[in-house]
Amino acid sequence: MVQGQSPTASRFSTRQKIAEHRKSLPIASVEKRLIEEVNNNDILIIVGETGSGKTTQLPQFLFSAGFCREGKMVGITQPRRIAAVTVAKRVAQECDVPLGQRVGYSIRFDDSTSSSTRLKYMTDGLLLREALLDPLLSRYSVIIVDEAHDRTVHTDVLLALLKMIQRARSKPVNERSEIGNASGENGVQRNGVLRGCQGRKVSPLKLIIMSASLDARVFSEYFGGAKAVHVQGRQFPVDIFYTAHPESDYVDAALVTIFQIHLEEKPGDILVFLTGQDEIESVERLVLERLKHLSEDKRKLQPLAIFSALPSEQQMRAFAPAENGFRKVILATNIAETSITIPGIRYVIDPGFVKARTYDPKKGMESLDVVPASKAQTLQRSGRAGREGPGKCFRLYPESEFAKLEDSTKPEIKRCNLSNVILQLKALGIDDIVGFDFIDKPSRGAIVKALAELRLLGALTDDGKLDDPVGYQMSRLPLDPVYSRALIRANQFNCLEEMLITVAMLSVESIFYDPREKREEARTSRNHFASIEGDHLTYLSVYRELDEFLEKKKSAGGANKIDKSMKKWCINNFVNNRSLKHARDTYRQIREHVEQMGFNVSSCGNDLLEFRRCLAASFFLKAAQRQLDGTYRALESGEVVHIHPTSVLFRAKPECVIFDELMQTSKKYIKNLTRIDPLWLPELAPHYYKAEE
Ligand code: ADP
Ligand code: MG
Repeated sequence: MVQGQSPTASRFSTRQKIAEHRKSLPIASVEKRLIEEVNNNDILIIVGETGSGKTTQLPQFLFSAGFCREGKMVGITQPRRIAAVTVAKRVAQECDVPLGQRVGYSIRFDDSTSSSTRLKYMTDGLLLREALLDPLLSRYSVIIVDEAHDRTVHTDVLLALLKMIQRARSKPVNERSEIGNASGENGVQRNGVLRGCQGRKVSPLKLIIMSASLDARVFSEYFGGAKAVHVQGRQFPVDIFYTAHPESDYVDAALVTIFQIHLEEKPGDILVFLTGQDEIESVERLVLERLKHLSEDKRKLQPLAIFSALPSEQQMRAFAPAENGFRKVILATNIAETSITIPGIRYVIDPGFVKARTYDPKKGMESLDVVPASKAQTLQRSGRAGREGPGKCFRLYPESEFAKLEDSTKPEIKRCNLSNVILQLKALGIDDIVGFDFIDKPSRGAIVKALAELRLLGALTDDGKLDDPVGYQMSRLPLDPVYSRALIRANQFNCLEEMLITVAMLSVESIFYDPREKREEARTSRNHFASIEGDHLTYLSVYRELDEFLEKKKSAGGANKIDKSMKKWCINNFVNNRSLKHARDTYRQIREHVEQMGFNVSSCGNDLLEFRRCLAASFFLKAAQRQLDGTYRALESGEVVHIHPTSVLFRAKPECVIFDELMQTSKKYIKNLTRIDPLWLPELAPHYYKAEE
């Protein structure tokens, strides 16, 4: 008989290990005190070093202390999807329960909760959406806003909303009328109406704000001098190294550093901070490529990607210990700064950049740019190397550059297009946006611009009220207002199926896979999908072809091998398998939403002219016209822009296009384009284009 541990014994030892791990965390020694503080304070701010156990432990403490009695839940919000998922999985494991039962998560397009869920991890954006359905968030006894230092636009809005909800819930039942007055007509059940708060018995709400940074003052002041407690962390010294000169290509510099560490330094995993999926996937490939040139005994390096759009089973791989003798190199976005802690890291490589949203309300231009990280972010990054022992951090820029970094990142609400948020606030019955109690007020210009945009999209009436039904319908869709509007339009144009696919494809990064070493081959393969009408139609044909291929496979009886077939098809066609999976999921979810709204998903088949007209009618605010010198002028802002080289229209340069995204790198680029007839604009968006004449 084979000798070995029985499954029961192995489970027992895992449980014991987890129990020991939990006990060893800095937060464990202050459990009693924290619960006392929560009992004594309706609002509590908890500040603690990353990795001290705030996110995984506090909800469990609250559960044990009885905060989930009578079916109540503790809700924990995260700015990032991936953090909500990984932490929920970890906590379920710690509690030794199946995920989705007592411990669950809910993020946009992915819900793993049930009626028995008591500890619910979710994105801050998702909780905002829940407030549309349950204005007092009455199922929660405690809400923990985690990673508040991140100051995402959703966190900021959520803080303001929770402040109102808490006040409403602490009032006697018959005095609750403070929030919510938008009510739909026609007797239709409306989302986001803060109705029904009167006369209903809802117990008070506890609020906990958690943050990794040391500056709790801003939150404390915002909540009227709320109490802040600090949880001491454990941090080992980290040696910081800088480069002698600026690096012209930080991706290449990161690669060189990875191999230097791998070949010269003691064991310990490496964490590299990159800016996005494309960059991560390219470094992942390059690491594997370069490993082939090393001798067998030096090849024990395992690259692992971690970014939000990564399917969750792949995300979890980063947490598992490396195979025997292997060194892991985790390629992550800034998600690994504070949201998630991966054990085993001793070396950090920090090129010093981050992808950030910027917005210019005057020009109505939002863009996602790679910019230098702030000092606060840089410090958090190096800190990741000193969690379990002394570590090293390699900053890929000269020391003199460090002093020039901004102290901290500007709150997102001050640098993003506000139309999405304002639409949600309007749907919650909050009409006075300028007077709304934001922790940091967005500029008046940005608010005015967003209101104007929502009016042009038909979400708001001329006097700034939520339009019935378009505004309500738009606020129900968990999408950017332009996309929501496009779906509603598509319903009228009988091309909802095509628009659903398009919106799903536009919601994912990097549809095509473009390996450096096979550029030509990839390009030829892409030509096969390319539509002379532009990128939207090209994506549509990728999606449809894959769909047809999978249908055939299914009918040939290979349903259980679908995943494999899909992967193979994607590799053969130079399409990004991860992104396509994500797009297919997204499609299914949005389709469910529109069907629930009573829309009938019809297709225009091959009449793509109608679909292009629908694109023009939907994206009329993002139209650009070719100028004599071959550049384009964005019609709304008047900016000079260029077609991005990845667009299928890069060479064709049609006279007039609509675009999805404007991005500033070395130039101002427009991405994801469709050729349109310029006469369609005044025809299909007369309220905008006729008024201009
Ligand atoms: P904080 O929120 O204070 O930053 P966390 O509660 O996220 O801390 O993490 C506490 C500890 O739990 C960390 O030391 C981390 O290594 C460990 N941990 C968290 N998630 C996982 C996971 N998925 N797998 C293994 N360990 C984990
Ligand atoms: Mg945390």
